[in-house]
Amino acid sequence: MPNPFEYRDAVLYCEDVELTKIAEQAGTPCYVYSAGAILSRYRAYDDGLAGLPHRVCYAVKANSNLSVLRLLAQAGAGFDIVSGGELYRVLQAGGDPASVVFSGVGKTRAEIDYALEQGIHNFNCESEAEIALISSLATRLGKTASIAIRVNPDVDAATHPYISTGLKEHKFGIDIAEVESVYQRAATLPGISLDGVSCHIGSQLLAAAPLVEAARKLLALVGRLRAAGIAITELDLGGGLGVPYSPADDKPNIAAFLADIRTLVAGAGLFLLFEPGRSIVAEAGALLSRVLYRKKNGEKEFIIIDASMSELIRPALYDAHHEILPLRQSKFGTVKADVVGPVCESGDFLAVDRTVANVLPGDMVAAMTAGAYGFAMASNYNARPRPCEVLVEGATWRIVRTRETYADLTRGE
Ligand SMILES: *Cc1c(COP(=O)(O)O)cnc(C)c1O
Repeated sequence: MPNPFEYRDAVLYCEDVELTKIAEQAGTPCYVYSAGAILSRYRAYDDGLAGLPHRVCYAVKANSNLSVLRLLAQAGAGFDIVSGGELYRVLQAGGDPASVVFSGVGKTRAEIDYALEQGIHNFNCESEAEIALISSLATRLGKTASIAIRVNPDVDAATHPYISTGLKEHKFGIDIAEVESVYQRAATLPGISLDGVSCHIGSQLLAAAPLVEAARKLLALVGRLRAAGIAITELDLGGGLGVPYSPADDKPNIAAFLADIRTLVAGAGLFLLFEPGRSIVAEAGALLSRVLYRKKNGEKEFIIIDASMSELIRPALYDAHHEILPLRQSKFGTVKADVVGPVCESGDFLAVDRTVANVLPGDMVAAMTAGAYGFAMASNYNARPRPCEVLVEGATWRIVRTRETYADLTRGE
């Protein structure tokens, strides 16, 4: 399923469901995800690694809706988590804790205990102090924790600075120049087993070359560690492959990327792990919204819609591009406008100076490629209840998270 969203007779569909039907019945703003597209991306990873011992651990932070997690768990995915809350979500969705890798630079004592008790696959460790803490907590519980050290390979991922993580100046991982001595010291600690080497160099990479370069550096490191008597059996290459947000973007190919990796790791005797998030869910999702008003300030046109930075913060946070498409194509041509929300911030825009369909109040639009880091980063800013989420499967759809109410907004206060 290359693209689950397409026009049929000038009406936008997700799989076999007309999006206006969802918007009218579920209300707007509303996130819509295609189950078929999510599964086909997952399978592209799984098939690309066929014949090699591997696990594709979906990065939960990209989209942690329980129905999305359940879909992936049933397809055989593992999970990459970055908090205790994400582990809780995976377990609620029926995910197998033994398929979970725990990443992140600031795991708390309580989170480590929780993960040890649940029996996760391993910890991707980001500092020597964290390894020492896991060693002592695992020893106290009478367990042996499997450890990989997240290496910072000093590779420039050439992406937005906020989502680039693989350079020395970033807070992530342990510098590749120092990591061998860290392995040596960690090898003496009780309660842990040093099984893996891992990395994650950034997100939204539109070229695979930096990922392949990082893999090459990590493989060389595995060779040096093995020569020094540390029996590394697992290699985790993280996530990060990007998706085309605008028609001008390159279109990274999962199969081609994995083919490069296959050539590199052939015969290395390593269990391979990947942690893709965005590349599995981004293109499977859209944010539906209704046009509230049109207005002009001087020469500038504004299309004011009922979705905002509270529901989709990527344009404000990363200067991200999302295509804005009408749910019904009209004969009214196009207009150059800013597409903005109701939130009281000048940064509250979904598109700036963009040529979009000349939509009128009451019309509905979709912000495309919103399945990753969309709802997951939504907030209640301006006391806006978070939108509902819908999952489409073929010709059927269902609400997989209800729209928040005003009562939800004040719960706990
Ligand atoms: C965010 C993250 C991922 C997923 O990144 P994508 O760009 O969404 O594929 C994987 N691993 C780690 C450690 C992360 O922090």
